[in-house]
Amino acid sequence: MMYPAPFRYHRPENLNAALQLLQRLGEDAKPLAGGQTLIPMLKMRVGDVTDLVDIGRLPDLDEIQLGESEARIGALATHARIAASSVAQRLPSVRDCAGGIADAQVRARGTIGGSISTGDPSTDWAPMLHTMAAIVEIQGPGGKREVAIDDFITDAYTTVLQTGELVTGVRIPLPPARSGGAYIGYKRSAPAYPTAAVGIQLTLDENDVCIAARCVLSAVASRPVTSAAADAALVGTRLTEEDLRAAGELIIADTNPPADVRGSADYKRSVLRGLFLQVGAKALQRAKGENIEGEHNYV
Ligand SMILES: Cc1cc2nc3c(=O)[nH]c(=O)nc-3n(C[C@H](O)[C@H](O)[C@H](O)COP(=O)(O)OP(=O)(O)OC[C@H]3O[C@@H](n4cnc5c(N)ncnc54)[C@H](O)[C@@H]3O)c2cc1C
Repeated sequence: MMYPAPFRYHRPENLNAALQLLQRLGEDAKPLAGGQTLIPMLKMRVGDVTDLVDIGRLPDLDEIQLGESEARIGALATHARIAASSVAQRLPSVRDCAGGIADAQVRARGTIGGSISTGDPSTDWAPMLHTMAAIVEIQGPGGKREVAIDDFITDAYTTVLQTGELVTGVRIPLPPARSGGAYIGYKRSAPAYPTAAVGIQLTLDENDVCIAARCVLSAVASRPVTSAAADAALVGTRLTEEDLRAAGELIIADTNPPADVRGSADYKRSVLRGLFLQVGAKALQRAKGENIEGEHNYV
């Protein structure tokens, strides 16, 4: 790895100062959060970055709150803190996701805000947050705005963030009773991004019939893959293996997995088929009230 090109380093005292600085410096200035993506990119000399605005120690952006009807996670909350939080205890798929990202070093520094802001098609938070219909809070020169997570990433490495804007947090509506979710990434090793990942969130009625479902696939297209047809196919069923397999085929048909060092397109589709059944079964058990541990799968 090379040394980064020279850049200026700024550490503003508070959020307003950071926003003003980012606006004044323009598009070649980048906010620095955990640095787990940005620093390696700088060392590879990707992009023209003249200024780093270190937001990593800004007060109040790392709070994690579990309320009556929603959870809120500040942009600077690290994966490790989220994994150990009350929100992860209440929402096991949050725990699956946070606890399975990379290794302990990356989880100790990397943040949820930084993760979604990269728009990297292989990262775990954006797809996981889709299953929970999360909202992204953004603040910029024009004030505050909110964007549904589904609309936040528009293409590979591209988000709706404008120059000078920061993600300040994400809000997750709490699901009703008899809901459960799971998220599993399939990885070659802990410090590797997933080859493929699947997330599913379900709600059951008192007869164990599915009344709401949101599923997602990740790392197999330029952005998280969602499918209204697959979600609808799960609703009204008891989520047998056949029901899951049929819905899985609907969403997998919408993928276009890149052939790369992690495997061929066919290999990734077959990984997705296995993961979809596994994640669906785990989400179902959790919706029925079982306390199931979650962990990523390793090759
Ligand atoms: C070896 C390794 C393995 C990894 N494996 C995985 C994995 O399996 N799954 C996974 O999901 N991730 C993985 N990651 C990425 C990691 O999760 C990082 O958390 C994430 O990529 C970026 O978070 P960060 O806080 O470090 O952001 P930074 O690196 O500081 O910033 C990343 C980008 O986001 C911008 N940014 C940061 N914060 C904000 C904000 N609040 N508002 C607007 N823009 C912002 C920065 O300007 C920069 O462009 C891995 C990273 C490494 C180094």
